[in-house]
Amino acid sequence: MTSRLDWIQQEIDGLKEAGLYNRIRTLSSPQGAWLVVDGKRVLNFCSNNYLGLANDPRMVDAARKIVDQYGVGPAAVRSIAGTMDLHLALEQRLAKFKGVEAAITFQSGFTANLATIPVLVGKEDVIFSDELNHASIIDGARLSGAKIIRFAHADPADLEAQINAAKGSYRRALAITDGVFSMDGDVAPLDKIYEVTSKYDVMLMVDDAHGEGVLGTGGRGIVDHFHLHGKVDVEVGTLSKAFGVVGGLVAGSPAVIEWLRQRGRPFLFSSAATPPDVAACIAALDILEASTELVDRLWDNARYFKTEMKALGFDTGVSTTPITPIMLGEAPLAQQFSRELFEEGIFAMALGFPTVPRGKARIRVMISAAHSRDDLDQGLQAFARVGRKLGVIQ
Ligand SMILES: *Cc1c(COP(=O)(O)O)cnc(C)c1O
Repeated sequence: MTSRLDWIQQEIDGLKEAGLYNRIRTLSSPQGAWLVVDGKRVLNFCSNNYLGLANDPRMVDAARKIVDQYGVGPAAVRSIAGTMDLHLALEQRLAKFKGVEAAITFQSGFTANLATIPVLVGKEDVIFSDELNHASIIDGARLSGAKIIRFAHADPADLEAQINAAKGSYRRALAITDGVFSMDGDVAPLDKIYEVTSKYDVMLMVDDAHGEGVLGTGGRGIVDHFHLHGKVDVEVGTLSKAFGVVGGLVAGSPAVIEWLRQRGRPFLFSSAATPPDVAACIAALDILEASTELVDRLWDNARYFKTEMKALGFDTGVSTTPITPIMLGEAPLAQQFSRELFEEGIFAMALGFPTVPRGKARIRVMISAAHSRDDLDQGLQAFARVGRKLGVIQ
């Protein structure tokens, strides 16, 4: 007898046949330069723990201490039962760190986008969206009901052409771009994009998830990197990557932030981050404001790894950030490369279609300040061995 849920198993079998089934590995250690993955100790080239903060003793300590004071859960939606002073303290600190007047936090970067886009635009409006924008931007844009017009990746001239083509057909317009694109590690030309959006009076939003704690002075993000303070209307970020915890944020003018507090649905209808999350995020700000050491080490490590990989003959694509793609071409080669690396004790992800375009499969290496020079050298040696074995390099 068939049941009405049989189609699910058929879909899953289809994924397996097409080589698109995602087997998720199990980690049984804290995040760090090394991990225990499926029982094996491996060098970690996979996570977004750019600054090594996810298991930093100062962060762990802050989380532990606040649990004694505030417990473990917020137990309510902030707008209904009152907001803990702790969350407000984090938001004030984030605003100061980012050089804006106001900030608001969310449960994740994903929900920050779902909250933000629909409060800015609706059915009579239009969104100009970089064609490679993150899934959470795509979902937030769809949720808003606005017309979505994609512009060519990182191409301000095409953005301008699309704005001109849509002229007169909308009430309000919002341009949205990722700050750092996670598959290629390239940075959005936000200065040039701003020139276009300001010329046409289009609102500008950047999602700086991979730039928060990475780009700009001491990790202050992409707006700081391009010296665009006060010009970008909405800066979305995450506390789940370089910050090493979990959560999302929006930084901007008091009007935008107040509007999100009144109308942002994930703020109004979903509980806030837990006290230990918030305390750890405040500790991350303490660390970032005290010294640029971790951010500097991250970039030193990224430069070293990229230079050495190029010297070995690998193609590291167009990345200008610590995200380091190793371009391999076809997906089966990238998957085999990743498996061989794992045998060598290196945990690095293969990415293929549909995550990246056909013929552009790659291994993506995520560099962290947590890596020692020795770790990076071990990684480089393993890449060299596997690369020669598979005929990728000489
Ligand atoms: C990772 C990422 C997110 C999601 O952030 P979370 O805090 O993990 O939900 C959103 N936008 C972009 C561009 C990202 O890279």
